[in-house]
Amino acid sequence: MKSMIVQALEFPSRDQIMATMNQFEPNWETERYALLNTRICDLKLEFEQSLLCRCIHKLYAELSAKKLSFKPPYYFACAGEEWGCPDRVPIMGIPFHLADSRLTRIEKEMGYTSYDKKDLMILLRHEAGHAFNYAYALYEEPEWRELFGDFYAIYPANFKFKFNPFSRAYVKSQGEPKYYAQAHPDEDFAETFAIWLTPRSSWRAVYKKWPSVKKLEYIDRVMFHIRDKKPSVTGGHLDSPYHSKTYMLIDYYGESLDDFKDNALGLYDEDLRKIFKTNSNGHKRIIPAKDLIRKNRRFLIETIARWTGTREKAVIPVIGRFYLRCRDLNLILTQDDEVRSLASLAALGTTVVMNYLHTGRYIVD
Ligand SMILES: [Zn+2]
Repeated sequence: MKSMIVQALEFPSRDQIMATMNQFEPNWETERYALLNTRICDLKLEFEQSLLCRCIHKLYAELSAKKLSFKPPYYFACAGEEWGCPDRVPIMGIPFHLADSRLTRIEKEMGYTSYDKKDLMILLRHEAGHAFNYAYALYEEPEWRELFGDFYAIYPANFKFKFNPFSRAYVKSQGEPKYYAQAHPDEDFAETFAIWLTPRSSWRAVYKKWPSVKKLEYIDRVMFHIRDKKPSVTGGHLDSPYHSKTYMLIDYYGESLDDFKDNALGLYDEDLRKIFKTNSNGHKRIIPAKDLIRKNRRFLIETIARWTGTREKAVIPVIGRFYLRCRDLNLILTQDDEVRSLASLAALGTTVVMNYLHTGRYIVD
């Protein structure tokens, strides 16, 4: 019997919490509000479930099909030039909102560009081209310069480049703009690489009579030569990695959080921020708020259930939610504040559960 009770009070997993929450609440608005109200650096990206993750696997499979051992690493960037390897760094920068399908959904709802699988593959092959160029410093080779031009040439301002739509000296882009290869020698290389890498692009036949076939043949030769070689450059300074951004996701969009409050149920972020701190202010004896909750979860669940006269089943999701939000918001407390915080948390939990008992909703209006 004892073991059953212990089991029933075991802390629920995130999925269990979400499943219980979903019994009561339509959850996307809540999830969205919670994400918008989180610092970008604190976002827990669910990358494995994203379309981007599948596309990166596909990119690596395409590279393997060409027998290339180097698989360009990637990082998630925020602001600035989101797509793109930093200058001469063979690491692909990818917009952070593509690394999590919930963020991708927000991006789309905010009215920004959305990418399907085809778009992502076109962009990834292009960035992989830059990464190979930088990883093996190909741009320093005389033949590279002869074919593509001066790598160090200055980029046209605002990417407003002149192009000749009839030129056959360049490949045609798979994406937009169609003449992007004409923007800069480095882009020419990346675009040509992308065509070469694309499965069934039939580049030998398609570009047979075009002078640009020489560039494709060069890439074919060089890639054969380096396929087993380790890159000579592997790292460098990353531009705007998402984990360096300490502002809220809502500020990234320049919108107001209040506009997203409607239908967002079960939100306690503001209350939790009043109980806990986000900054240690030099205090040494700091505990993460989530650890306080984890350590005292049984006390909280039992106490709130007893004094509200409800079943523990109705309390568990509330404490679970507190735990997840404290974790995602990186909330902390000083050891001296343990008792006060725990009392406040029990009071907040009681309010939320009472509210649920009276209205059938967890939200504190
Ligand atoms: Zn590029």
